[in-house]
Amino acid sequence: MRILVTGGAGFIGSHLCERLLNDSHDILCLDNFFTGSKDNIIHLMDNHRFELIRHDITQPILLEVDQIYNLACPASPVHYQYNPVKTTKTSVMGTINMLGLAKRVRARILQASTSEIYGDPKVSPQKEDYWGNVNCIGLRSCYDEGKRVAETLMMDYHRQNKVDIRIIRIFNTYGPRMALNDGRVVSNFIVQALKGEDITVYGDGAQTRSFCYVSDLVDGMIRMMNRDDSPIKDFGDKFTGPVNLGNPDEYKILDFATKIKELTGAKSKIVFKPLPPDDPMQRRPDITLARQKLGWEPKVSLGDGLDKTIEYFKNKLKP
Ligand code: NAD
Ligand code: UDP
Repeated sequence: MRILVTGGAGFIGSHLCERLLNDSHDILCLDNFFTGSKDNIIHLMDNHRFELIRHDITQPILLEVDQIYNLACPASPVHYQYNPVKTTKTSVMGTINMLGLAKRVRARILQASTSEIYGDPKVSPQKEDYWGNVNCIGLRSCYDEGKRVAETLMMDYHRQNKVDIRIIRIFNTYGPRMALNDGRVVSNFIVQALKGEDITVYGDGAQTRSFCYVSDLVDGMIRMMNRDDSPIKDFGDKFTGPVNLGNPDEYKILDFATKIKELTGAKSKIVFKPLPPDDPMQRRPDITLARQKLGWEPKVSLGDGLDKTIEYFKNKLKP
């Protein structure tokens, strides 16, 4: 198949492009390089089935493709709050453009949604039928509300125009190729520990997150995109999602900081900084639906995933 990956030069997108190339597909990797980097995909450039397109999804584009993975959007709070109006535009106008393309060329489209659509959840673990608790005027809303509208658009193009859609809600995912300046907790803590700097815990560190290794996530994405074509009989129905993809093992951020200190052997001090506004206190996916509908669950333990990620950052920090 010919497959378009928007945000393909980003952290998750580059792993997805690599896996799809290994599965013998032709890949169109589209990116505006806001948070993505050519370093993430340089090893794919020699492959004649890989094409790179510098483009911003807030502008329309016409391409002939069979499938679209729509990942283009900054994901780190630091980056998505840098130009919040652009973040909303990317999720809203960008998703309209990608859905318009899918409709025109009859491609199947998968939207990378997020656990952030649950906001600061009042229930835990979060199931797909929970409607969430989002502040629509806060600093995080450009991302949260943008992604919520993107889900609405996906469902309405499906109901109104019969576009073949898939929605996944990704929970905190980590691994090699996160940018050094990404600003999210996994890269921040590892880079701080490796440099011997203070490890910055926001708030008292009692807030929780659940961390999924990137290869597990990519496996779930591909299963969701292709499940109708699965030889497994029960998977023959049309399932649009949304479906949660994440690792249900939950950690307090303070315990996570201690774990990074142990794994890196760092002498760093753990210091406390103010908690950003609207920072969700509890986040853990209920993945019953993914287990039932996709036969999917994460396989990589936090220890193994972090070892690989620490190794990556060690190399990246070499002079
Ligand atoms: P990332 O910032 O590494 O990747 C995003 C990519 O999109 C970058 O390459 C960036 O340059 C590109 N991009 C941004 N705006 C664009 C635009 N207007 N046009 C074209 N390209 C654009 O982040 P990531 O962690 O790889 O996230 C990928 C997707 O997964 C995002 O949609 C994000 O919301 C979603 N997601 C990620 C996580 C996670 O924990 N990593 C969790 C939930 C959802
Ligand atoms: N966090 C932290 N120190 C950092 C970066 C993040 O304590 O240097 C906390 C942040 O306040 C949040 C959690 O770690 O509670 C996860 O933050 P991240 O930015 O990775 O993603 P989020 O899940 O909030 O989108």
